[in-house]
Amino acid sequence: MENVRTITKLWKSKPTVEGAGVHLKRAFGYHEAPQLDPFLLLDDFRSANPAEYLPGFPWHPHRGIETITYMLDGEVEHGDSMGNRGTILSGDVQWMTAGSGIIHQEMPKGDANGLMGGFQLWANLPASHKMMEPRYRDVKSRQIPEVFLKSGATVRIICGQVNGVRGPVEDIVTDPEYLDVFIPPNARFTHPAKKGHTVFAYVVSGAASFDGDGSRLCDTGTLVLYGDGDSVAVATEAEPVRFLFVSGKPIGEPVAWRGPIVMNTQEELQIAFEEYEQGTFIKHQ
Ligand code: FE
Repeated sequence: MENVRTITKLWKSKPTVEGAGVHLKRAFGYHEAPQLDPFLLLDDFRSANPAEYLPGFPWHPHRGIETITYMLDGEVEHGDSMGNRGTILSGDVQWMTAGSGIIHQEMPKGDANGLMGGFQLWANLPASHKMMEPRYRDVKSRQIPEVFLKSGATVRIICGQVNGVRGPVEDIVTDPEYLDVFIPPNARFTHPAKKGHTVFAYVVSGAASFDGDGSRLCDTGTLVLYGDGDSVAVATEAEPVRFLFVSGKPIGEPVAWRGPIVMNTQEELQIAFEEYEQGTFIKHQ
């Protein structure tokens, strides 16, 4: 029998300052992460004020995680210590698997109107993959399939499958799904969710009932964390909604986390920071 997931927890993203002084909203992070395994953090960095984002995220290391950047407006100039350079444009995704380590910088720029925005999700890696070779998946907006459902909903599939259409990001160890869903007013969206996988939604704009029964409307900036089950159902009333839908297989390992590095033990963390100071951090060139 189908078991529709119900909401376990709801909360709002909160303002914080990161990098060299970027004002953003954090949907979840260090304190909430144990409930969202394998996900660690979700930042919403939409802003119309260049002073809030131009300081950017200058050179910093990552190890043991994946960072997934999805741009809506403006762009991010990206560069790493191996000489990779690129620009993540509006509608693009950069799925970066830091693995054994990268040192990079991420510098946001606004569009012609000064608008800049997008989301960065951090996903953990299991012990077996923390020291894997770093890997980039640079996905251009046009490579992301858009599916129009009979219900009226439109889904951009970054990773995962909707109506037999698969997103371009494949072979990720935590078997994630990452969808950008739009539902017009007075419509309903249902989607299967693998049993045992962690599932959350983050409201980008508008409002909807994420229990699918119209019981309570969740609006912009709300993080919806689901309990277990086989599917989710989201229903709109007079307003449309746009939300990110993310699922992934929990890792279930100890987490040792300091800043941009997430390992299993304190000793591994200490080694990582010592290597960074000594210039021996990069393992794969
Ligand atoms: Fe980074």
